[in-house]
Amino acid sequence: MQLLASYLAGSWSQGSGGRTPLVNPATEQVLAEAPSGGHDLAGAFSYARTVGARELGQLTFAQRGALLAALAKAIHGAREELISLAVANGGNTRGDAKFDVDGGGVTLSHYAELGARLGSQTLLADGEPIQVGRTARMVGQHVWARRRGVAVHINAFNFPGWGLCEKLACSLLAGMPVITKPATATAIVAHRMVELFAPLLPAGALQLLVGPAGTLLDSVLPGDVVAFTGGSATARMLRTHAKIVEHSVRLNIEADSLNAAILGPDVELSSETGGLFLADVVRDMTQKTGQKCTAIRRVLVPVDRAPDVFEAMRERLGGIGIGDPAREDVRMGPLATAQQRQDVLAGIARLAAATEAVFGGTGEVTPVGVPAGKGFFVGPVVRTTNAPMTCAPLSDHEVFGPVTTIGTYSGDAAFAAEFVSRGDGCLVSSAYSDERDWVASFVGAAAPWAGRLYLGSAKMAAQSPGPGTVLPSLTHGGPGRAGGGEELGGERGLHLYMQRTALEGDATVLKSLLG
Ligand code: NAP
Repeated sequence: MQLLASYLAGSWSQGSGGRTPLVNPATEQVLAEAPSGGHDLAGAFSYARTVGARELGQLTFAQRGALLAALAKAIHGAREELISLAVANGGNTRGDAKFDVDGGGVTLSHYAELGARLGSQTLLADGEPIQVGRTARMVGQHVWARRRGVAVHINAFNFPGWGLCEKLACSLLAGMPVITKPATATAIVAHRMVELFAPLLPAGALQLLVGPAGTLLDSVLPGDVVAFTGGSATARMLRTHAKIVEHSVRLNIEADSLNAAILGPDVELSSETGGLFLADVVRDMTQKTGQKCTAIRRVLVPVDRAPDVFEAMRERLGGIGIGDPAREDVRMGPLATAQQRQDVLAGIARLAAATEAVFGGTGEVTPVGVPAGKGFFVGPVVRTTNAPMTCAPLSDHEVFGPVTTIGTYSGDAAFAAEFVSRGDGCLVSSAYSDERDWVASFVGAAAPWAGRLYLGSAKMAAQSPGPGTVLPSLTHGGPGRAGGGEELGGERGLHLYMQRTALEGDATVLKSLLG
C-alpha cells in the first residue's frame, strides 16, 4: 500500500502514527494511506523562511514566470496519469478530472505569461503618483513589494489539482515560498503534482504536507499568509487561531456559497438564452457531482415558465448515466467521501421538509458498474418552492452535491437581486436576460452580494464557459458566507502575497524606484 509522503525541507518525510486510508469513492477500494503526523513542521517553516525566500528573492518576475511555465508543461506531460488518479481518488468522470487537471495547467500558464510581462521590476506600481506637497516635486506613490514570509495553502477536497496550482501560481510569482496542504481524502493528485513540480523549482519554494494540519499553523509569524479553501466551520476555527490572531497573519478565506441563477422574465426556454440557462444549471448540478464551490444551488424562474423548466430538467437529468466514473457511459460519479454523502443526504432531507419534489426524490440511485452497496452515490435532486424568500433551508445551508432548488417569482429584477442577497454573500450568481434595463436593475442591487456576476445572453451564449468556471483573469471569492476572500484576477492575485506600501518622497526618486 502506497504511503503518501510529505515533501518538507527538501526531502520526502514518511511521518508516523496512525494512517488514514484514501479510497476510490465509487468502489471503496483503498488506494493509498496518509500518515496522521510525525513531521517536523517548525523545521519546514524555517526552511521556507531561509532557503525558499532567498532562492525566490533572487529571481525576477520573468524568471519566476518561467518556473510556472515549466510546471504547466509538467502537468501537460503527465496529463493522462493525473486524470486517471483524479478518476480513481476523486470520483471524477474523465470530464471532471480534465476540469481539475487542465484548469491547474491553464492557471499556471496564465501567471507564467504575466511574469514575462512584469519582467525584471521589483516593485509593482499601484495607481499613479499623487502630489502631496506644495509642488509636484513632493509625491506619494503606492507600491506592492514582495512579502518576506511563508504562504500556507490549505485546500478543499473537490479540486486537488486546480486548488494547488491556482494558489501556487500567485504565491510563487509574487516571490513567496509555499507550504501546501491538500484535503486528506483526495490528496493523491496533489501529491503526484508535487512529485512532478519539486525537481523543477528552487530549494524551499514548495513544500507539501499530506494528512491532517496538526500543529501546522502554530509556526506562523507576521509576514506569513494563510490561504484557506474549505467549509465555514473550519474557517471559523482559523479566524480565531491563537497564532493567526497574535501575529495579525493575513488570512484569505474561500468558503461556502449559495450561488443563485435567475431566469429573466423576457427569456423563452426555447431561445438561445433559455438553452444556455438550462445547460448551465444541469452542468452545475452534475459536473463533479455538484461538488463545485461555484455550482448553482438556488434557481429563480418566472412563475409562468416553471412547468417548462421542470419538464426540461427532468428530461435532461433523466438521461445522465450515474455510476463508476471510469466508464465512458457514465456522466456523473459518486460524491468524494462517505462523510460528504451523509452531509448531502442530510441537506436533501432538510430541503425536502420545506419544498416540493421535481426530480430525483431524495437522491436514491442505482449506480452502474460498481459492486452492490458500494460507493458514495447520490443521484441528482431538484426541489421547488413558491416561497423562495422565506424558505429557510434554501438560504441557510449549502448542500455540496447534485442538488438544486427552483423558486418562482414574478420576474421583478429587484426581487431577483434580493433573492441573491439571501445567500448572505456568494462566489458567483448568474442572470439570464436579453433585456438591458432589467439586467442593469439586477446588477446594481445584486453586485454587493456576489464576488462575480455572470450575465447570460444570446450574444455570448456560444462562447460562454458557464458561471461555474473560475477564470484566472477574474477574481474568485465572495463576501459574507463565501468567506470574504479574493484570489486570482490576473495581477490582483499577486497582491495577497505582497505588501502595499505608500512611498512618499521626491518625484524623481520614486520614479527611479519603479524603473
Ligand atoms: P473542510 O473540511 O473545511 O477542509 C478544508 C481543508 O481544511 C482540508 O485541507 C482540511 O484538511 C483542512 N482542515 C481541517 N481542519 C483544519 C484545521 N483545524 N486546521 C487547518 N486545516 C484544517 O472542507 P472540505 O470538506 O474539504 O471542502 C468542502 C467545503 O469547501 C464546501 O463547503 C465548499 O463550499 C468549500 N469550498 C469552497 C471553495 C471556494 O473557492 N470558496 C472551493 C472549494 C470548496 P483534512 O482534509 O486533512 O481534514
